[in-house]
Amino acid sequence: MVTTDVVVVGTGPAGASMALALARLGVDHIVVTRYETLAAEPRAHITNQRTMEVLRDLGVSDQVEALSTPQDQIGTTTFCTSLAGEELGRVRSWGTDPHSQAAHRLASPARICDMPQNLMEPILVQAAQRAGSRIRFSTEYLSHAVDDDGVTVSVRDRLRDDTYEIRAKYLYGADGGRSKVAENAGLPMRGEMGVAGSLNIVFRADLTPWVAHRPSVLYWVLQPGSDVGGIGMGVVRMVRPWNEWLTIWGYDVADGPPDLSDEYTRGLVRRLVGVDDLEVEIVGSSAWTVNHMAAEHYGRGRVFCGGDAVHRHPPSNGLGSNTSIQDSFNLAWKLAYVLRGAADPALLDTYSDERAPIGRQVVDRANQSIGETGRIFDALGVSGTDDPEVMKANMARRREPGAEKQRRELREAIAFKAYEFDAHGVELNQRYVSSAVVPDSLAPDPLASAEDPELHHVPSTTPGARVPHVWLAGRHGDVSTVDLAGHGRFTLFTGPGGTWPASELVHVIVVGPGEEIEDPYGDWARLLAAEGIADSGGVLVRPDHHVAARFASVPDDPAAVLEQTMRCALRAGEQKLSS
Ligand SMILES: Cc1cc2nc3c(=O)[nH]c(=O)nc-3n(C[C@H](O)[C@H](O)[C@H](O)COP(=O)(O)OP(=O)(O)OC[C@H]3O[C@@H](n4cnc5c(N)ncnc54)[C@H](O)[C@@H]3O)c2cc1C
Repeated sequence: MVTTDVVVVGTGPAGASMALALARLGVDHIVVTRYETLAAEPRAHITNQRTMEVLRDLGVSDQVEALSTPQDQIGTTTFCTSLAGEELGRVRSWGTDPHSQAAHRLASPARICDMPQNLMEPILVQAAQRAGSRIRFSTEYLSHAVDDDGVTVSVRDRLRDDTYEIRAKYLYGADGGRSKVAENAGLPMRGEMGVAGSLNIVFRADLTPWVAHRPSVLYWVLQPGSDVGGIGMGVVRMVRPWNEWLTIWGYDVADGPPDLSDEYTRGLVRRLVGVDDLEVEIVGSSAWTVNHMAAEHYGRGRVFCGGDAVHRHPPSNGLGSNTSIQDSFNLAWKLAYVLRGAADPALLDTYSDERAPIGRQVVDRANQSIGETGRIFDALGVSGTDDPEVMKANMARRREPGAEKQRRELREAIAFKAYEFDAHGVELNQRYVSSAVVPDSLAPDPLASAEDPELHHVPSTTPGARVPHVWLAGRHGDVSTVDLAGHGRFTLFTGPGGTWPASELVHVIVVGPGEEIEDPYGDWARLLAAEGIADSGGVLVRPDHHVAARFASVPDDPAAVLEQTMRCALRAGEQKLSS
């Protein structure tokens, strides 16, 4: 029988990033994936700062940056009646508003960018293969059976049409929104699938004349009379500036998707662009559904799921692939530590405790964002009717001198979409609460009293939070606290006077004058002082960049305190820690 430590199902963002993370951590694993190729469609694309930090850790951020569309080209979300038609308004997005831009720069060493999924997956998969992943294409997961010692996974080789078994210690289902692994594991799901229907049409056309002066990744098109029920709302999404695109258009789930003939898809593209004789090359099309579902638990025994398998939601806020990659980053190091005997298997339970609340928040946020677009319809006067002529007349009214109220409401409704297109807090304010995080009575988490934690990033060393980014000075240039942490190990940041012992498990970085890492602007010291941490104290950061614990000052016996803390962070018994 084929044996390994971990079987990963799927090579989407969740599976591919898990493979890469496991390979870099030296964990033996096999990936099975149903098709013989990776995703051909651009699908998910916005790659937020937190994901870019993960990709820096995984050693592929340079490749992603090189192929992505940078932040300054993606941020003028425009609402219009067609690309060539009337503009209704814009909202600065993805950190391109000057205020958000500063917040983005302060929050992370990484920049948000637009990276289509069909370009992202090959980077992750090839890097994983180079690092040692064994990836089996055209291989379908069928079922699994768990016992005390491991899990037996049954797969089908689709080329030979035969089945075989793989024996592993753990199984990770990253098999997407129709996850068979989650179903077979009986993960409890809450919510609804198929709440609305959507079509993706990928096409090539030079749209420079209508977009280059307002560069963005998303152009939202409202067309009265172009859909059942009166209002047609579509998206023209940039894939590569400015000649590769993807149109998203709704359909009534009760009726099923329309016939996606070339004639239909070309006609739809021309209508949304607003140019009847536009030269269009249709590359592909597919139908998918908007879902509102999340798993209550992400694992059962030796089986875990991540990505769309456990959180299924619309693309609003661009969180799909980001959340999937972050799930895998949370679990990968835990698997590695348990497999090498440095942590108790109970550590694996914290994956679900930490990630499931975030998945639920993401699913709710993405669906709420769809609902909030209704404010724009209300402001335009197109909601209460399905008569296209009435809609057009109501929309036209905003040009009249007396329509100040309508103009104000439209302005506010569009600006309110910052909660979808510039929700920096949703992207970065993740806090983990679990038994692998050691709470303390130092300064309370400022997130609790933050004015708008969905819009704004709130950095903190609170246990469970991601370590705040601060530029420090290294021997060869500036280096971020986020980049200093991670790489599969625990890192303790301390300062002058901190006599914390390094160990096999804890890498100690002393930040201070004359040390290898200095704090020339004083930003790090200022941040720690505000949270009640003296120079001799410390912040213990896990391999996934989240804070495990912090110390106000150096205790009498730092070695014992650190060992005790690590025992908690790894949910480990004494014998395991010292082995
Ligand atoms: C058609 C479509 C269009 C989308 N468009 C957008 C968009 O425009 N914007 C956006 O933000 N998000 C979009 N999404 C969502 C986004 O792609 C997902 O959030 C993201 O891909 C989730 O990553 P994942 O790795 O969890 O799952 P997926 O990317 O779905 O990957 C699942 C993987 O598992 C494999 N697999 C499935 N079943 C088996 C099996 N039984 N055995 C072996 N392998 C299996 C698949 O082949 C695939 O490799 C779209 C999704 C789809 C399906």
